[in-house]
Amino acid sequence: MFRHVAVIGAGAAGLVVGHELLREGHTVVVYEKGEQVGGSWIYTSETESDPLGVDPNRYPVHSSLYKSLRVNLPRELMGFQAYPFVARNDEGSVDLRRYPGHEEVLRYLQNFAREFGVDQVVRLHTEVLNVRLVDSNKWKVKSRKKDDVVEEETFDAVVVCNGHFSVPRLAQVPGIDSWPGKQMHSHNYRIPNPFQDQVVILIGHYASGLDIKRDLAGFAKEVHIASRSVADETHEKQPGYDNMWLHSMVERANEDGTVVFRNGRVVSADVIMHCTGYKYNYPFLETNGIVTVDDNRVGPLYKHVFPPVLAPGLSFVGIPQKVIPFPFFELQSKWIAGVLSGRIVLPSQDEMIEDVKAFYSKLEASGKPKRYTHIMDYPQLIEYTDWLAAQCNCQGYEEWRKQMAYSAFKNAFITRPGTYRDEWDDEHLVAEANKDFIKYTS
Ligand code: FAD
Repeated sequence: MFRHVAVIGAGAAGLVVGHELLREGHTVVVYEKGEQVGGSWIYTSETESDPLGVDPNRYPVHSSLYKSLRVNLPRELMGFQAYPFVARNDEGSVDLRRYPGHEEVLRYLQNFAREFGVDQVVRLHTEVLNVRLVDSNKWKVKSRKKDDVVEEETFDAVVVCNGHFSVPRLAQVPGIDSWPGKQMHSHNYRIPNPFQDQVVILIGHYASGLDIKRDLAGFAKEVHIASRSVADETHEKQPGYDNMWLHSMVERANEDGTVVFRNGRVVSADVIMHCTGYKYNYPFLETNGIVTVDDNRVGPLYKHVFPPVLAPGLSFVGIPQKVIPFPFFELQSKWIAGVLSGRIVLPSQDEMIEDVKAFYSKLEASGKPKRYTHIMDYPQLIEYTDWLAAQCNCQGYEEWRKQMAYSAFKNAFITRPGTYRDEWDDEHLVAEANKDFIKYTS
């Protein structure tokens, strides 16, 4: 059975969903509010009118890329399984590095869309305003084009791929409202030059914080990083830098411009930058409370994809975090495409509800807060992707990819956090990957 399916967003997730739905024989419309495909990978020097990203009337900017950004996964690991992210000098690729800059990723995604004909079903400049279930299990999608023309179209199913790196989450800091310095979120960070000679405090020490601290160190007078995953007494000068320190969390901010850390240190700062992640946000989705976002848990979702009560008509791709995004989206897309055609059968609604309940109970029992619902660790990632592959009866993550994921995470966060993009010790896995890629690239 073939369906008429709406996909919301033409980033990496929406593009691969589009490809898998078309391959399965469905008819597809991919709605994209921007002027080109690629989503987060379309760099812009523009920033939002509210640097913290909280003013509901701010002019929204989708991408959170900073100018210097190089990928944080090796390209062999990062690419779709059916379309390896290999350095293609002959196809206009200009950044051959194993961890290339962001422009290379955008080229790759746009080539993917063109080569598989997904670009033919994308409606650019078309923002989805409302998605709702109507009679007889059909979905109405209301959208607005660039010329302000509003249209409605009816679909059998909707796949939501609107991304979740655009709406900032902020750290709660006592006293911050009367602190006189400048506050911003990393969503609105682009280049280090405006921070020349300033004292900057970064709250958060994960992907963006790790990059931005190095970007800033060459310009700022001092960079202080507040991390919640270090001991309270932590106060460490960062190796290789004479103007950068790692601290425990910020305890409070004062009216006199000082900021106090849990380690007791007091710093008079010009800027606080929140590198504290993002919120899931579905302003267009009308489900009468069936799907909610509560403390950054999108739910209830069976295996992070299908709301049991609305399955299979509504699904989400790309919600889990700390995954290997592109091939992860690809497996979720294959599952959705197969379920929609009836080739793959979902459990009953009750069974899916029970599965979600059991998952939430397990999280609670392990002491994980709700907001970690969609954060996967390495064993969960492998278990989940193997499970998806079994559902789809397709190739899961290859053995080299599983091992490379492990070595890449270790290299980036433990062994060589400062230099992992240019030094590694998994050449044997690169060789295996390249051998594997021949079947897709020759
Ligand atoms: P997006 O790329 O955000 O695409 C969503 C699309 O939906 C956008 O084009 C948007 O315009 C569109 N859209 C939203 N709302 C609507 C609407 N109402 N109507 C129509 N269109 C809409 N991943 C990696 O694999 N490697 C990396 O090195 C890496 N580095 C990253 C660095 C940063 C700073 C960030 C923020 C993320 C990084 N990621 C990285 C994660 C990256 O975001 C994902 O890899 C992936 O690009 C997300 O794709 P997506 O399609 O889910 O979302």
